[in-house]
Parts: sequence; C-alpha cells; structure tokens
Amino acid sequence: MPEKKTKYIFVTGGVVSALGKGIASASLGLLLKKRGFNVDIIKCDPYINVDPGTMNPFQHGEVYVLDDGSETDLDLGHYERFLDKSMTKDNNVTTGQVYHTVISRERRGDYLGATVQVIPHITNEIIDCIKRPAKNNPDTDVVIVEIGGTVGDIESQPFLEAIRQMALERDPEDTIFVHLTLVPYIATAGEMKTKPTQHSVKALREIGIQPKVLLCRTAKQLDDSIRKKIGLFCNVPSSHVISAIDVETIYEVPLHYNKEGFDEIVCKHLELLNGPPDLTDWEEMVQKIKHPTHRVKIAICGKYVYLKDAYKSIIESFIHAGEENHARVDLIWVSSEDIKQKGADKFLSDIDGLLIPGGFGERGVEGKIESIRYVRENNIPFLGICLGMQCAVIEYARNVCGLKDAHSYEFYADLKHPVIHLMADQEGVTNLGGTMRLGVYKANLDKNSKAYKAYGVEEISERHRHRYEFNNAYRELFEGTDFKLTGMSPDGRLVEIVEVDKHPWFVASQFHPELKSRPTRAHPLFRDFIGASVAYMLKKKEAAHNKADNDLKERQEVS
Ligand code: GLN
Repeated sequence: MPEKKTKYIFVTGGVVSALGKGIASASLGLLLKKRGFNVDIIKCDPYINVDPGTMNPFQHGEVYVLDDGSETDLDLGHYERFLDKSMTKDNNVTTGQVYHTVISRERRGDYLGATVQVIPHITNEIIDCIKRPAKNNPDTDVVIVEIGGTVGDIESQPFLEAIRQMALERDPEDTIFVHLTLVPYIATAGEMKTKPTQHSVKALREIGIQPKVLLCRTAKQLDDSIRKKIGLFCNVPSSHVISAIDVETIYEVPLHYNKEGFDEIVCKHLELLNGPPDLTDWEEMVQKIKHPTHRVKIAICGKYVYLKDAYKSIIESFIHAGEENHARVDLIWVSSEDIKQKGADKFLSDIDGLLIPGGFGERGVEGKIESIRYVRENNIPFLGICLGMQCAVIEYARNVCGLKDAHSYEFYADLKHPVIHLMADQEGVTNLGGTMRLGVYKANLDKNSKAYKAYGVEEISERHRHRYEFNNAYRELFEGTDFKLTGMSPDGRLVEIVEVDKHPWFVASQFHPELKSRPTRAHPLFRDFIGASVAYMLKKKEAAHNKADNDLKERQEVS
C-alpha cells in the first residue's frame, strides 16, 4: 500500500489581529473530524519567547497548560475544545523554540562550518516542526497549520516562507492556503470596503503564496457583487470568498462555515472524499446555549478582570456548564482591589456564585480573601481555582480557626503562619520558564465529598500550574472543623481539593479544572457549581416571591 499522504491546510491572517484565526482553524478542524478524518492542528507563534509561560497575561492572555505540562498559547484551548483531543508540546511552535534548537545545534558544531541563516536553517527547522505531529502519528489525514500574527509582520516571514516551500514540494491537491481577513463596513459611506483585503492578499502573493479560500470577517453577509470584486482583485473564484459573519456563540462558527460550503471547498481541493459531516450533536449543543431556561449571575473576582482573554478557558467552561444546566451564565467581573477598598457587600450581594481564579503575586489577594469570607458566611456557592484554593485556606485559617496572620509564603517570606508554603521541589529554582509543577497529575477523592459527587469516580487526573501548596504542618488546625481536605495526591502528601461542609457548595482545587472542560462534556466541578448556583437563584426567587405575597396579604389585612 502506498504511504498515506498527510494533507496540510495553512491558515494565515490579514489586515488586523484578533479576527479569530484560532476559532476559524478549530472550526474547520471540527468539520473535518465530523467527516471522519483524523485531524491535528499546529499553532505557529512568531514571538521570540520559548513559550508564553513567562509572559504577562495582560499582553498575551491565558497560558494554556497541556497534559504533558507544556505552557502554550490560548488557541490550543480552542483546538482541544473543538476537537475534543489532547494536544502535546508539538502542537505549538514558537520562533523562540526554533532558534533555541538551531543555535544549540550550531554550538555543537552540527552545521559543519556552514554559515547558519534564516533560509534554509531556520525555515528547515520550522518545516520539521510542522511535519512532526504527522510523523509521530502516521494515521493523521490532515494537519491544520495556523500562522500567528498578521501577514506583513517582519516576525512571521520565516513561517510564511516555510509553508510556501512546503506547498512547493507537494502535489497541488495536498496543500491549501486559507486566508482570514476583514471586510469592514464604513457607516458614513454605507458601504463594505474590500481594499484592506486586497492589500493583505497582495502582500501574501508577493511572497509567493496564493490563497485558495478567503474567509472574510464581516458584520453582514457579503453580497454577490462584493464577492466578485474581492475574487477578481485577489485572484480567487468568487465562490471561494466566504462570509464569516459575527455569530452569537463561537460554537456556532462551524455550523455557519458548513452552510457557506467552506469545508466542502477545502475537501474538494484536497481530494478528501468522505461525505458531509454529521453535526447533529453539535447543533443540539448550540441550540441549548442559545435558548437557556435559567439565568445565573456569577462573579469572577481577580486581578486581570479588564482583559477577558486572561480567563479564556474559565469563560468557556461556564458556557459548557451553563448549557448542561439549561442556564445562561452572566459573568460579573469584579476587581479584587475594589472589594478590598469598598467591601464585598457592595459588589456581591446579588450574585448566585463566586469564582476566584488562579493568579500570581500579592496584588488584590486581600480582596479575594474577603470575598471568600462573604460567600462562605452567606451560603453562596463558591469555586476556587489554584490561588483561589490557597486564598480559601487562608480565609478559613484566619476567620474561623483564629490565626489572624495566616498567609501564603508566596507573598511574605517572614510569616508566623505560612498556611500555604513553597513546594519542597521548588526550593532553589531560579529559572522562571517551565519550572512550576506543570501538567497532569492524579488525585484521590474522599467518597464523602461534593467533589466525589461531581466526578462520580475516586481517582481523577487534572492539570496543574503552581509553585505553592497547602502546608501540611497545619493539617491539625483544620481537623474537626467544617473545612475538609477532600482530594489528595496518591501519596497523600499534596492537598488537591478543599471543601467547606454545611455549606450549599464550597469547593476549591489546587488544579485547573477549566483546562479540561469541553463543549459537549462540561467539567464536573463547573457543572455542579452552576447546578448549585441555579438552585441558589431559584431559592432566592421563591423567598422573594413568598415575601411579596406576605406583604400583599398584610397590606390587605390592614385596609
Ligand atoms: N501563585 C500560586 C502558586 O504558584 C497559584 C498559581 C495559580 O493560581 N496558577 O502556587
């Protein structure tokens, strides 16, 4: 049998950033998967950092951690959610990694005296990285390669050159270029403008890449005359100019692409001959997201509340958990510094649940601790993640166990009560990149816990990203209290989950559940947290209803 040829789909972006290349690539991936193909996706990031692990979330958004512990771009989160497939370090390639490999090789003398250059040495290494996932998994039918950045950037040029060469080496039906661009609507002229797209495609063609399909982000459907014009100027058949209109939820994007015939065009060109995709379950899921029965208000109290991308996976997890509970989750973003200054009551009095996400650094921590006290005392459902769990430990130690100066060693080295301390294997670690406790680890659950009720199994496996942990010297402090350690590492040493008993739902984990939530399979902790929030909201409504009834009766009796 001849060797199976893996097909490559190269996705580039033009005009402006933030058009949603990650979601476009993931959506196409889903459509191909639903046609029965074995799909993989690679994100190429042109920055010089080896990975985003050391970048400020304000600049880069969330750092998405994989099972194997790699710290990657948040687009990998979209890939995993849409394809329901675990990615590995080979799915994210950065300029930093490419140069790191080439320079190490040069130092070893592997280039035998040659002058090491962008072409061919850097481009060859990029090509090797792009080929690696299919090489490791020969069953791969298609690899989607998303090139980060915008065409015209200096940084992304070696990547574009590498994919041009890859296409040149292969038969025309083995590769396809898809370009995502913007067609803005100029309200004052009452017109849609094609010039930015023309320029961006021109820039691509100058470096030898002719896109086959143009995905045009627009507010309104493109009419035939605009598509013809774009096609003519960009050397693309007008039928391959696709309107990528704004939709209500990102999970609707693949359905829209399918209606526009995008996957059909790609499959025809690549000679991928399976029939149309079966999207029934996906359609049902989208309908449930769009037509909820309930509505709950969840507060997220954190440091980066002004940059939603810093909490991308958490936001998506709430959509999944809402869908399974027939609820729309309205997120209320509260700055932890505001809570500290103005009090929790001012911001949290009408919420149905509180989430404290992961984080680093002391800023805002007191506000987080205060908001946890508020929801614990007022029986409002609570989910804490990583730093959120550490804050829950500090709060209970301070306000219930009476250790007024309990805190985390992360913030003060000289502490009387470091209830959270540095993990032993982190001592002496000086390099910041890739040195935390990262990736998937197992944990065992106490059968008598809300966590066990959520998961339904005793052994779980979740992703981590932290340096600090619950200090076992303080286990005795919590014994006999309502504060339970309900999830432990298999050797019983590391506290993975804490809960407060006699509270409707108070659970916090050292791991990051948001990294494993999927649209068709919400994470058990998020699902039950939203379930508890819906119950809390309905109870509140009923109480308000009864009170209104009683007030009316009283008034009638008086008159
Ligand atoms: N800063 C804390 C630690 O390193 C929590 C990390 C997190 O929330 N991801 O342990």
